[in-house]
Amino acid sequence: MKGALAAMERSDYQTANSIFRNLIDSGLPLPEEMPYFFSETLFQLGQYDNSQNFVNKYLDLTGFTGQNYESATLLKEKLKAPIAQIQACERCDRRGYRLENCTTCLGKKQLEQACSYCKAKTVVGCSRCGATGMIKKVNVFNIVDFFECERCGGKGRLSCPDCEGTGKEISSCKTCLGSGKSPSDNLCTHSEESNQH
Ligand SMILES: [Zn+2]
Ligand SMILES: [Zn+2]
Ligand SMILES: [Zn+2]
Ligand SMILES: [Zn+2]
Repeated sequence: MKGALAAMERSDYQTANSIFRNLIDSGLPLPEEMPYFFSETLFQLGQYDNSQNFVNKYLDLTGFTGQNYESATLLKEKLKAPIAQIQACERCDRRGYRLENCTTCLGKKQLEQACSYCKAKTVVGCSRCGATGMIKKVNVFNIVDFFECERCGGKGRLSCPDCEGTGKEISSCKTCLGSGKSPSDNLCTHSEESNQH
């Protein structure tokens, strides 16, 4: 953790961030004050939601006894404004990352696929006449008579009931869960302009 603190000292929060992350990934028991320092780093990097998670975790774990109790409480206060901004903004997700159009559905929220019922043929075989278009009936003289199937008008086929003859199936996009948006790697500026430009 010393390396991370040194990096924080020289305002190199990117480096501090990666040292902290390695520390977490290592699975070793974490120093008690670490969640506070990590949340401070995340705050500096603009990762407010994550910062809040760690400062809360720190305060949960150490309570009043933590060495950085006061700084942590202060940080929590500082987080309120940016977190409120994120919640009020519709251009980013709850972590503050800019939402872009979903790349799977291109923001359309829905996907068009071939109808799975008719295999995009738009028609299905008529079940009443077994797709022959004719109904067989045995009359009183035991003679087989054929009648045109009323249901399909003798065509033997019906417009697909699932896709109503379009051959397409519309379902909500699974990638973005129908929201049409997916978060990008860019932190949101909460303004009209995307911060990519
Ligand atoms: Zn989508
Ligand atoms: Zn029929
Ligand atoms: Zn169909
Ligand atoms: Zn935003």
